[in-house]
Amino acid sequence: MARKPIVVGNWKMNKTIAETKAFVAAVDDKLNDKADWGIATPYLDLPAAKEAKHLIVAAEDMHFKDSGAYTGAVSAAMLKEIGVDWTILGHSERRQYFGETDETVNLKMLQALKNGINPIVCVGESEAQYDAGETHDVVKTQVVAAYKDVAKEDVEKTVIAYEPIWAIGTGKTATNEIAQDVCGYIRSVVAELYGQETADKVRIQYGGSVKPNTIKELLAQPDIDGALVGGASLKEDSYLAMVAAL
Ligand code: PEP
Repeated sequence: MARKPIVVGNWKMNKTIAETKAFVAAVDDKLNDKADWGIATPYLDLPAAKEAKHLIVAAEDMHFKDSGAYTGAVSAAMLKEIGVDWTILGHSERRQYFGETDETVNLKMLQALKNGINPIVCVGESEAQYDAGETHDVVKTQVVAAYKDVAKEDVEKTVIAYEPIWAIGTGKTATNEIAQDVCGYIRSVVAELYGQETADKVRIQYGGSVKPNTIKELLAQPDIDGALVGGASLKEDSYLAMVAAL
């Protein structure tokens, strides 16, 4: 079945509000309908990003509680209030530097869906796990944990980003074959959990040093329905080169 690709730039801790406005002004009118195009920005940049008419705007994380004594955290209701209805969850940098676990990713998935926010949930293995041939086991564990108690009818609102940690920000892209193998495997895990019909509706992105010259071939793979892009999403010209490449 046809799944519309979704390409989202993950800005991480980059860009000020002024830089966000300049990006939106340069990019928003030049998108095409070959994909759903988006950016995930730091919280402070989100209102400026929401001035875009076409770009999907995502947070990079959110908390799993409604409100309370969680200094520094941002809730689903706060995102919804400014019109943000997408968020990345479980990025490997959140797992590595901020103590994110499979359990908190799952709580955030449930909280996002309860509040009408579409999660882009990240999974992926480390270089050591890749070398040890553990990739399938690692991503299966992460996917099964992330979707615990997620209702079948909510699954198609979610996006899964397969991001091998060894390919993030390193310039090492997984080959098209590796990326397809793992994304296809992830779809089979979703099929085990929810059935093939539901699995066929879920969009699965690849992320890890995607560039304008690699995006088209990656997205041509049967189980790769988009990309989560760090470095190459930051500059207006390189983002637009990805748009032109599809
Ligand atoms: C990311 O941060 O999700 C990512 C894939 O980064 P990069 O494209 O820079 O590897």
